[in-house]
Amino acid sequence: MPGDVRLVSHPVVQHKLGLMRARSTNTSAFRSLMAEIGMLMAYEVTRDMPTREAAIDTPLGRTTVPRLDGKKIVLIPILRAGAGLLDGMLRILPGARVGHVGLYRDPKSLVAVEYYFKVPREMADRDAIVLDPMLATGNSAVAAVDRLKETRPRSIKFVCLLTCPEGVRHFHGQHPDVPVYTAAVDSHLNEHGYIVPGLGDAGDRLYGTK
Ligand code: URA
Repeated sequence: MPGDVRLVSHPVVQHKLGLMRARSTNTSAFRSLMAEIGMLMAYEVTRDMPTREAAIDTPLGRTTVPRLDGKKIVLIPILRAGAGLLDGMLRILPGARVGHVGLYRDPKSLVAVEYYFKVPREMADRDAIVLDPMLATGNSAVAAVDRLKETRPRSIKFVCLLTCPEGVRHFHGQHPDVPVYTAAVDSHLNEHGYIVPGLGDAGDRLYGTK
C-alpha cells in the first residue's frame, strides 16, 4: 500500500467494525458503534501528540505531569457521515475545536462539490484531524484537504473506518503528507463508488435515510 496508512488492528475496533458491516445492524446500533470506534480512533490518532510538563500537587507532594493542549486540536468532520465519528472523538478530546466541511458526491460524476466550510481562526497553531468514515474514491477527502490546506494548519491527519486501494492511491497521489488512520483496507471500489465488501452507505445507515 503506497503512502502512510496506519491500520488500527485492535481487536475491539475490529469487532465493532464487524458488527457495523452486518446488514442486520440497525440505525441505532450502527450510530452507537460508530461513536465507540470514534473514541478508540481518537486514542490512536493522538498517540504522537506533543505534551508539556506541568507542575501539580498530589495529596502527597509536588510532581510534574504531562499535559496535552486539547484546544490545539481541530476535529473536522466531512458532512454528513463524518459527523458520526465526532461525538466519540469529543468524549476523549473534550477541549478540541470543531470545524466542518460540507461536501456532497455528485451521483453521476462522483465529483465532490463543496457547499460549506468553517474552521476556527489561527489554524497555523493547530493540528487538524479530518473525519470521514469512508475513504472511497478519495474525491471528497482530496477536496476537503485541498481546502483545509488553504488555512495552513500545523498538521493534518485523516481518520476513516474503511478504505480501499483505489481511495488510498488517489488520496496519497494528491496529499502524500497526510497519514490515513483506518480500521480496514477493503478489497476494491465498485462501479458506483462503493467500497466492497464495505458497510453500505454510511450516511444512510447512520441517519436512517434509506
Ligand atoms: N460512501 C459510503 O457511505 N459508502 C461507500 O462504500 C462509499 C462511499
